[in-house]
Amino acid sequence: MASQSSPVMDEETVTGSEPTEVESALETARRQLQHAADHLDIDPNIVERLKYPKKVHEVTVPIKRDDGNVEVFTGYRARHDSVRGPYKGGLRYHPDVTRDECVGLGMWMTWKCAVMNLPFGGAKGGVAVNPKELSDDEKERLTRRFAEEIRGVIGPTVDIPAPDMGTDPQTMAWLMDAYSMQEGETVPGVVTGKPPVVGGSEGRDEAPGRSVAIIAREAIEYYEKDVKESTVAIQGYGSVGSNAARLLDDWGANVVAVSDVNGGIYDANGLDTHTIPSHYEEPEAVMGYDAPETVTNTELLELDVDVLIPAAIGNVLTAENANDVMADIIVEGANGPITSAADQIFTERAIPVIPDILANAGGVTVSYFEWLQDINRRAWSLERVHNELEEEMLTAWEVVKDEYDSRKVTWRDAAYIVALSRIAEAHEARGLWP
Ligand code: GLU
Repeated sequence: MASQSSPVMDEETVTGSEPTEVESALETARRQLQHAADHLDIDPNIVERLKYPKKVHEVTVPIKRDDGNVEVFTGYRARHDSVRGPYKGGLRYHPDVTRDECVGLGMWMTWKCAVMNLPFGGAKGGVAVNPKELSDDEKERLTRRFAEEIRGVIGPTVDIPAPDMGTDPQTMAWLMDAYSMQEGETVPGVVTGKPPVVGGSEGRDEAPGRSVAIIAREAIEYYEKDVKESTVAIQGYGSVGSNAARLLDDWGANVVAVSDVNGGIYDANGLDTHTIPSHYEEPEAVMGYDAPETVTNTELLELDVDVLIPAAIGNVLTAENANDVMADIIVEGANGPITSAADQIFTERAIPVIPDILANAGGVTVSYFEWLQDINRRAWSLERVHNELEEEMLTAWEVVKDEYDSRKVTWRDAAYIVALSRIAEAHEARGLWP
């Protein structure tokens, strides 16, 4: 599969009209911003400001490996915009993490929070490391040291990290503990996505997949199809892919194909998604499952299905394969799975793409619920989380749908228009300091 990082290109390439393969997350994010801004009557100075991060913190993270040697990794926390509230966004552990990737992903968080109308801005961070090459003890040492290095810039009312690729509830528990030990008090609200026993929210773990399923269901209905008669292919069987697959399966959809990094399995009659181990239940177990057929990850993306959900990594749908996609609807489960060039091809081919900033926004939405629970020192039931998430997702879907219907733009532009209007309005109301 395509790698998520790419060479950093200059400003010309970023803002020019012809997208080049493969863009960095920052280039894609800037292009999408400009595209949405072109539809709106907003102050170009505000758009210009939004193309840049507020600040990027770069730190070195030395850890003692289990063999006694010291290794130094590079970590980042990129703050994009906080006009609507504290910075919010995940921390990823991945070898491809770069400064620019964090900035681009941080911009997406700004739009994601705005499209959901959450009182947060956007940020992203991470460490350039392959977590698969670290023991649990090494991961804990890395996390605690990284927490110390960014301690001065995070905080429950300032910037609130969460899990992302390569990090999980345990990572957040270590981070919260490291931060709290230094502060001299337990500060659960400094991160979200923690285990419920230390102030995490019920339902947070499954929330991004849940929102993908809810939005896929709404899109299926919008295009006058029946969920029960729809076929679905899902790339990636981690938190997003497996939870989306199982919910859609529960609602009667035919999930015909799922995959992990090693490849995929296919059953024309629908897979029993609950019995296929997700990445967290048993890593890389999809190919070991007894299914009638196997498919490669490339083939999965080209299956003739009603709904295709790329829920693994970024940049998997490119100019190379976009013309071979046979799905009727694409719902983005991962952040940035479609390059700008592929996006243009899907527009030309009239294949609707429901964007990541709406579809997988359940994660940050339940992060918001978690943050509220932490501040109030009160735990919500799983049922309440599910109900409130459903309500928030449907509200956002309706607002985006109204823009889509009235402006005749793409779903991505419609979501960006909603987000950008809210952000621009807030910037106008607050004005420039001093
Ligand atoms: N990392 C997740 C995302 O990309 C969640 C961020 C959060 O909960 O703050 O949306």
